[in-house]
Amino acid sequence: MKTPEEILVEAQDLIGQVTDEASAEALRIRYLGKKGEITALMKTMGSLAPEERKAFGMQVNKAKSSIEAWLEDKTSRFAAEARSLRLRAERIDVTEPGLDIPAGAQHPITIAINEISRIFMNMGYSVVEGPEVETVFNNFDALNAAPNHPSRDMTDTFYISLDDDPKRSTLLRTQTSPVQIRTLLAQNPPVKVISPGRCFRADTPDATHSPMFHQVEGLLVDEGVTMADLKGTLDLFARRMFGSDARTKFRPHFFPFTEPSAEMDVSCFLCGGDDPTCRVCHGSGWIEILGCGMVHPNVLAIGGLDTDRYTGFAFGMGVERIAMLKYGIEDIRLFYENDMRFIGQFY
Ligand SMILES: [Zn+2]
Repeated sequence: MKTPEEILVEAQDLIGQVTDEASAEALRIRYLGKKGEITALMKTMGSLAPEERKAFGMQVNKAKSSIEAWLEDKTSRFAAEARSLRLRAERIDVTEPGLDIPAGAQHPITIAINEISRIFMNMGYSVVEGPEVETVFNNFDALNAAPNHPSRDMTDTFYISLDDDPKRSTLLRTQTSPVQIRTLLAQNPPVKVISPGRCFRADTPDATHSPMFHQVEGLLVDEGVTMADLKGTLDLFARRMFGSDARTKFRPHFFPFTEPSAEMDVSCFLCGGDDPTCRVCHGSGWIEILGCGMVHPNVLAIGGLDTDRYTGFAFGMGVERIAMLKYGIEDIRLFYENDMRFIGQFY
């Protein structure tokens, strides 16, 4: 059996070489465990003579406490290393900038549609929708557009299917006006609706044209509706949309589905007509905003109404044009390019 001194020398060497927790534990068991070498020495003490027992006991205890201290030193060092590794791995830099969670913004077209809709809803209008793929009948024939109307040309319009019967031919609607027909067939007067939505025309894209664009259609039909109601309604709309000092001007125009028809101009909200170089009105003081008129009796008749009893007015405006005027946007194509730097800046 080794003496306490021999064990001590050997243990110091072995513990000095230990590089991990498991080897330290193995040495603890080897020396201090139930069957360990120090434990075995202690068990021999009972057989020693009383005068030898004290000195031997002191040597064994010294070896035991030294080994304990060395192992403790090692394991606490391992624990500290493990802790600092973990801290390094779990380190949180509180000065690091946070994750950027982008705030959503509404598309400027959506904002304009919502604003126009809100103004008319406050006047008691309901919002109705119609399909973007429409029958040729609803898009042209029912709206009093003659078969030779230029907007029916294949180069102007996206046809989906063609049939001799215009009710079975389909196209991407060129205007929101077919919603007038759908509404007149579905509702009895008084009818008071607006219908925002997408329209399509085979236009080559440029700064002011896009093959896809948006309109808001309006329709009011009741007994005794006159052009004065039309003018009063649109005049109020202009003031709510462009400011309380906005003035309106109606110029005679032609649309197949209204008679009489007019285009409405609004006074320039940027210069009021005082700036000959104004980028919005180009010095005229007026901006063309929408088309309107009294619903043609032929359209009311197709809608199943007694034209002696009912009259009505309709109007339609381009949403892009209004958004471009309002936000000072100079190219319609910007609306559809999905460039977040552009479409994210409107609130
Ligand atoms: Zn102006």
